[in-house]
Amino acid sequence: MRKFLIAGNWKMHKGVSETSAFIESLLATDPTPAVDVVVSPPFTSLPTAAMLLTGSEIGLAAQNVHWESSGAFTGELSSEMLVEIGASWVIVGHSERRTLFGETDRTARDRARAAQQAGLKVIYCIGETLEERESERTFEVLESQTDGLGALESAELVVAYEPVWAIGTGRTASPEQAQEAHAFVRGCLERAFSTERAESIRILYGGSLKPTNAHELLSKPDVDGGLIGGASLDVDSFSAIIRAAAECAAGE
Ligand code: PEP
Repeated sequence: MRKFLIAGNWKMHKGVSETSAFIESLLATDPTPAVDVVVSPPFTSLPTAAMLLTGSEIGLAAQNVHWESSGAFTGELSSEMLVEIGASWVIVGHSERRTLFGETDRTARDRARAAQQAGLKVIYCIGETLEERESERTFEVLESQTDGLGALESAELVVAYEPVWAIGTGRTASPEQAQEAHAFVRGCLERAFSTERAESIRILYGGSLKPTNAHELLSKPDVDGGLIGGASLDVDSFSAIIRAAAECAAGE
């Protein structure tokens, strides 16, 4: 029922020429209608990416957005600006924004709400730290990070469960750990929305997802795709993950 979504988060990688080369190669690979695909280049590469992706089914995400439409917010960009240059998605609340740039649940929710009001679809990131997992507070953290999401539009919302200890570390959640967390998050979404809506919201796994572990993670019933950092920077490995999702969608 839920279509797989594979989203690449390029972080602060790939200027305009590398973005062009990547997207041209991606467009040259066989399309996979069973899987939604999104790329998120850095801000400076978004206009070029938008131009190259015109007419394709591949979505374009920004990596952050401010909650106001305009104003004295040096260094920030608004949803309206992102829409104007052709973005259709935005990643909100990534753990690097939370850890390094002071993002909180409150600011992440404000960004998500403003983005949706401007017509952007939101990939909303949550996930526990290693210390939180080891002190058995994972569920408590996920519950508080999803609190208030009910104010968002469920049809334009994707949640990314990204255990912080697995991001960029090479350490991946086991398929069982991922499924357990995703099922718990779905329960939180049921309380925030309704059972029917929660069933339709895609929950992505993020954290050292790569071609060698994609199939086993994506086979789990509540894992509806991936938010991928390192392995999304190489078109061959990104395409291999998309193919793994297509195989899972076909029940292989
Ligand atoms: C991410 O940054 O969202 C991520 C999951 O990174 P990586 O795949 O490199 O762990």
